[in-house]
Amino acid sequence: MRKKIIAGNWKMNVKPSETATLVKEVVEATKSFTNVEVVCCTPAIDIPAAVAAAAGTHVGIGAENAHWEEKGAFTGEISTGMLVDAGAKYVIIGHSERRQYFGETDETVNKRARAVISAGLTAIVCVGETLEEREAGKLVEVIERQMNVGLKDVTPADCERLVIAYEPVWAIGTGKTATPDQAQEVHALIRATLAKLVGADVAETVRIQYGGSMKPGNAAELLAKKDIDGGLIGGAALKAADFAGIVAAGN
Ligand code: PEP
Repeated sequence: MRKKIIAGNWKMNVKPSETATLVKEVVEATKSFTNVEVVCCTPAIDIPAAVAAAAGTHVGIGAENAHWEEKGAFTGEISTGMLVDAGAKYVIIGHSERRQYFGETDETVNKRARAVISAGLTAIVCVGETLEEREAGKLVEVIERQMNVGLKDVTPADCERLVIAYEPVWAIGTGKTATPDQAQEVHALIRATLAKLVGADVAETVRIQYGGSMKPGNAAELLAKKDIDGGLIGGAALKAADFAGIVAAGN
């Protein structure tokens, strides 16, 4: 039985001075939904305030990116050791916005994911096709490439600290959601591809989140699907009541 995991991706939307309030609201609004792992992934600068506000509660705090090197001349980057030191437990890797705007590739996703897992953090590795790729019939090819390259040399043991997020790029922040059947089809493909990398038994244990305009109103039917084990939530993570509505749907 895979425990559902609902993670907020705050993106570049919440200031350090606003962080404690939102985290405390999320803690309060989700505390009765004990069957779900609840996570807030925040801008790096918000992490200390988020960790302090979530201390002793059921809510885990994560980052939105991490570099693969431990330290050195990488101006503007954050290492996994820094995130561990700050109390983060999760890191989103390879979000489509990083791929689209910041030159992230499947190869750098792989380096980041392995560094995150080696540091004892949980990597939330994002995959997903653009509308053009879907319409050109390249869905399977794109997902298999992102998985095979992005998770190269990730071992079965590493999978304890691996979550995969399927985020169709055309559904992120657009209000368009994949139908539950469309999402389930890709989640099954992701699990089958993972099975070839780490074995079917291990692949069965890995949580696969759906992300892309998930809201309280559509979460239940998505989360009811066999291979949909949670959600990565953008816009709706910025309002505790909406976020909690999604957590409730997964409970
Ligand atoms: C995301 O950015 O990961 C995301 C799923 O965003 P939204 O929920 O706003 O579509």
